Amino acid sequence: MADTIYDVAILGGGPAGYTAAIRGAEYGLKVALIDASPKLGGTCLHVGCIPTKTLLFNAEIWDHLKHADEYGITGIGTPSLDWAAVLKRKNAIVTRHVKGLEFLMKKHKIAVIAGFGRLTGSARDGVHTVDVDKSGQKSQVKAKNVILATGSQAKMLPGLKADDRILTNIEILDLPEPPKSLAIIGAGAVGVEFGSIFRSFGAEVTILEFLPRLVPVEDEEISKELARLFRKRGIEINTGARVEKVERTEKGVKISFNDANGKPQVKEAEKVLVAVGRAPQTADIGIKKTRIEMNGASVKVNETLETAEPGIYAVGDIVAGLPQLAHSGSMSGMVVMAKIAGRAFRPVRRSRIPGCTYTEPQIGSVGMTEAQANEQGYDVKVGTFPFAGNSKATIVDGHDGFVKIVSDAKYGEILGVHIIGPQATELIAEAVAVMELEGTVE
Ligand code: NAD
Repeated sequence: MADTIYDVAILGGGPAGYTAAIRGAEYGLKVALIDASPKLGGTCLHVGCIPTKTLLFNAEIWDHLKHADEYGITGIGTPSLDWAAVLKRKNAIVTRHVKGLEFLMKKHKIAVIAGFGRLTGSARDGVHTVDVDKSGQKSQVKAKNVILATGSQAKMLPGLKADDRILTNIEILDLPEPPKSLAIIGAGAVGVEFGSIFRSFGAEVTILEFLPRLVPVEDEEISKELARLFRKRGIEINTGARVEKVERTEKGVKISFNDANGKPQVKEAEKVLVAVGRAPQTADIGIKKTRIEMNGASVKVNETLETAEPGIYAVGDIVAGLPQLAHSGSMSGMVVMAKIAGRAFRPVRRSRIPGCTYTEPQIGSVGMTEAQANEQGYDVKVGTFPFAGNSKATIVDGHDGFVKIVSDAKYGEILGVHIIGPQATELIAEAVAVMELEGTVE
């Protein structure tokens, strides 16, 4: 292995890493993809986007079936949920796409190397060396460039460990049955998505969020609308909640927290999901042996995603200043490969990366919120249109929510688009395309 000098060695086979690998191969580069797991796909494919969205699709169908009569569908009796079948379908979808990735790696002649990769320092004569450890069996990979794509893992609250009741995004995907009650700590994408899904499956859901609103990165009006619709669905929301203690009880968990007024409260539930953010996995990959600069656990990069160590790049969840989103990681991987291959590319622009939150209703957003546009001194003009006035929304039974466009009055420049409602995660792509082409509100 050590005799081969690759053009690029990639550490991590999630969406950021495998997309980079394929793009590199398409450019004719010799690529090695190193992953500690024998199955490629990373968090997104195994314990993130894909299994979660599979459950969401089940929840959606289930929600529609609850009022099948309204759609004129009769004769199906009382539908019941076969949870084992739900999980089986989810797992089958993951397996199918893992195989798809294996096929793509072979097709593109990418060398997939199983093992945990670590940097060893700066390049020597323009060649980097990566140590690879496969259960104690050591080898080295040599490459002219290295891309770090090692991803992230769920943060835990201090003193807690995930188990069958205290859950992260991993454990919650394989529950033997939907919980009767679920408390969720954190109302970012993970928290609100699982809250929405398990509410559809009948759980009593309580959300405890430290900040004053749900999905705090979104436009304030989006947060407000989501809270209104979640409450309508029977989800209990506690914003401004400071969690003090999480304990296991005989049958479930007990969460002690101070509410927004500082009053101590207790919430008991069968399970608790801890969804308080994700930590980049950068601790043990040899960064200290290099000149790479860090921002906490995140890697600092320049416009072309190169670190302070020449020839070493970072993409995906570990990058400081970029959102931890699969599509952001994939795009970054493609940009890096274009740069390495000497092809034309445009740097990733934070303001053009859409966010998609797969709740019911969905949220899709891109660019500045109204508050951010005001802070930056634009002459802000806002246009909002409710889905209630859109026949297609009524047809798909989704008349709640709205589309909000934040623009600058001077030229009609679109600064941000925020959608909550039916198919928002698809509709937002249209906004991104218009913004990329510098279309105006006109
Ligand atoms: P997050 O950082 O987006 O949200 C965590 C939330 O937890 C924040 O609102 C924070 O205020 C709150 N919080 C933190 N500590 C708390 C505490 N002690 N008590 C109560 N609340 C607390 O993190 P996440 O939701 O875990 O998601 C992790 C990353 O993965 C994010 O970047 C997210 O965007 C991404 N992700 C994206 C999608 C998607 O695009 N659909 C889905 C899942 C995850």
